[in-house]
Amino acid sequence: MEIQLEIVPESERKAKPDAALGFGRHMADHMFVMSWDEAQGWHDAAIKKYADFSLDPAAMVLHYGQAIFEGMKAFRGRDGRIHLFRPTANFARMNKSAQRMCMPQIPEDEVMKGLRMLLEADADWIPDEHGSSLYIRPTMIATEAGLGVRPSNQYLFYIITCPVGAYYPEGFDPVKIFVTDKYVRAVPGGVGAAKTAGNYAASIMAAVEAQKAGYTQVLWLDAVERKYVEEVGTMNIFFVIGDEVVTPPLTGSILPGITRQSVMQILEDWGLRVVERPIAIEEVFAATENGQLSEIFGTGTAAGISPVGALHYNDRDCTINGGCTGQLSQRLFDHLQGIQYGEMEDSHGWVENI
Ligand SMILES: *Cc1c(COP(=O)(O)O)cnc(C)c1O
Repeated sequence: MEIQLEIVPESERKAKPDAALGFGRHMADHMFVMSWDEAQGWHDAAIKKYADFSLDPAAMVLHYGQAIFEGMKAFRGRDGRIHLFRPTANFARMNKSAQRMCMPQIPEDEVMKGLRMLLEADADWIPDEHGSSLYIRPTMIATEAGLGVRPSNQYLFYIITCPVGAYYPEGFDPVKIFVTDKYVRAVPGGVGAAKTAGNYAASIMAAVEAQKAGYTQVLWLDAVERKYVEEVGTMNIFFVIGDEVVTPPLTGSILPGITRQSVMQILEDWGLRVVERPIAIEEVFAATENGQLSEIFGTGTAAGISPVGALHYNDRDCTINGGCTGQLSQRLFDHLQGIQYGEMEDSHGWVENI
């Protein structure tokens, strides 16, 4: 597949954002796009100017939600080179999401080539400051116009990017988490393991209520018994109990995080015991009360490692590690970031240079 390269002239480029980058507000100059239909397969691949799309008001994505996405980051290494963290894992996961949503498979090698070209075109958008990075959002949507409920016969795939600031500009800040048993995120047999738009639409109400109550994010319980921990907002979750690190198993309703898998590998490399097993919210509270539970942390591309300082569940509260960042959370954060910026040995070959 040929990828057209339409570089935006210098005079038409956007001004770079200054200090407060925030998250996802300043898009880079270029995007990668390609289209799919049954007759041609993937075609019209191009790197072009970041711009609006034109969509038919009956485009199927707008009505029935065939939309999937990925989230990954490019880091400016100490060596000045561009580092990507496990991008092939993201594209492989995107194809799993596509399969679940009856959307076409993307050609992973071609898309990787497109991403490389895009990052070369927008290399000056990758921030230099330590802790900041370029967030990358591959997306696929159903574009066929029609109001019948069935798989679309046309799709658009695109990649957009935006610089993001350090997640913890003032150092590690443990988050306060609201455990809900009123709402659920994903059901057995549903689409919880796919990074598909509807999962996030369904989660907004619980997140708004949690924020009103003073909490950063929601911790979801399983949809059947509303008893076992699943995950947090856009992060997987880990509990340090005694000399074990426990995380819920991937049973189909949890998003299989790439950071989750990387953290499990790092912990094993360090000789720690990592156990994937169902963990009830009652067990978490009991282990906190009897002093067995020393740390809770979330894992995800946005924050890397996010220590949890407090939980609220119905009328109960607990504080974890005195509300401070635990040793293991800190060590994992430093190690993961070290690999991503090329300062720590990448013994599993996770980093790809551009
Ligand atoms: C993206 C995401 C994660 C984290 O996945 P990473 O690959 O580690 O970024 C966890 N849970 C949900 C619901 C997500 O959308």
